[in-house]
Amino acid sequence: MAVAIGIVGGGLMGAGIATKFALAGFPTMTIETDRERLANVKHVAAEVLSELIAAEQITDAQRQSALEHMQVSAELESLSHVRIVIEAIPEVLTAKHELYDTLEQIVEFDALIASNTSGFPPDLLSEKMQWRRRFLIAHFWNPPHQIPLVEVVPGTDTDPAVVTEIVDRLTEIRAEPVVLNAAIPGFIGNRLQFAVLREALHIVQMGVANPETVDAVMKASLGRRYSIVGPFEGADLGGLETFLKIASHLMPELASDQRSLEVLREHVDKGEVGIRSGKGFYEWNEARIARIKRLRREQLRSRRTD
Ligand code: NAD
Repeated sequence: MAVAIGIVGGGLMGAGIATKFALAGFPTMTIETDRERLANVKHVAAEVLSELIAAEQITDAQRQSALEHMQVSAELESLSHVRIVIEAIPEVLTAKHELYDTLEQIVEFDALIASNTSGFPPDLLSEKMQWRRRFLIAHFWNPPHQIPLVEVVPGTDTDPAVVTEIVDRLTEIRAEPVVLNAAIPGFIGNRLQFAVLREALHIVQMGVANPETVDAVMKASLGRRYSIVGPFEGADLGGLETFLKIASHLMPELASDQRSLEVLREHVDKGEVGIRSGKGFYEWNEARIARIKRLRREQLRSRRTD
C-alpha cells in the first residue's frame, strides 16, 4: 500500500499538490486552518480532476478514486501516521519555524518534511529543527497538474536517502523532479524566468517593441523550442562555435541591472497588477482569459509521456 502523504496548507499550492498525490494512489491528509479553505480543498481538487478528464488524461473512475484518497482536517495531529509531509503554508519564516516545531512532535522521527517554499534556503528553514536530516525543499510550480517540474533542494544536513525517497515519490506522481547541488535564491526555474523577464522589460523600456510583440516573439520561437530542448541542448544543436561568437558580442548588450524594474513599478503604482485588477500589460477581458484556458487544455491534452 502507498505511503500516506500529509500536506499542510490547503491553499493554491497545497490543494493542487494533494490532488496530484491522490491521483497517483497515495492516501493524502491536507491540514488547513482556515475553515472556508478547508471546505474548499476537495472542490478545487474536483475542478482540477474534471479539467484532466476534459483533456483525456484520466477517466471518471480515476477522478473518483483520487477524491476518495483525499482527506482534510484542521488538526495537525491528524498527520501522526504520514510518511511524508509537504508544507505549503504562506511564505512567512516564523510561521514555518513554528509549524516544523509542532510537526516534529507529531510525526515519526524518521518521517520526511519537505517545504514548498518559493525562496527560503533549506538551512534557514530547518535551523530550529530537531532532526534536520529529514528536511528538504520540494518546490512545485503552479498549477501542479499542468507544470511537472519540482525543484528538490537538500540542505547541508539532509540525508541523501531522504533526497532519493522524495525523488522516487515525485516520479511516481508523474512530476519531473530535479535535484540542485546547492541552494541559491530562485533555485533554477525562477532565475531563468526572471532573467528572461528582465530582458523583456528592458526591450520595452528601450522602445524597441511593445509587450505584445515581445510575447509574440517568445511564443513563436523560444516557447516552442524550450518545450522540446533546453538552452544547452539548443546550443549544441545550433553549434557551440556559433553560440560563442553570438554570445561574445551580445551578452555585454543585455540588461544586467535593475533599471527595467521601473516598467513593472509604473503599472503596480497605477493599480494595474494584471488579471486580478483586470489590467496589467494587457486588458484582461473574457475572450483573452478563455483563449488561455483553451490553450492550457490543449497543452494538457498533448502532454508527453516520455
Ligand atoms: P496560499 O495563501 O494560497 O495558501 C496557504 C494556505 O495555508 C492558506 O490557505 C492558509 O490558510 C494555510 N495556513 C496558514 N498557516 C497554516 C498552518 N499553520 N497550518 C495549516 N494551514 C495553514 O499560498 P500558496 O500560494 O499556496 O503558497 C504556499 C507556499 O508555496 C508558499 O511558501 C509559497 O511561497 C509557495 N509557492 C507558491 C507558488 C504560487 O505560485 N502561488 C508556487 C510555488 C511555491
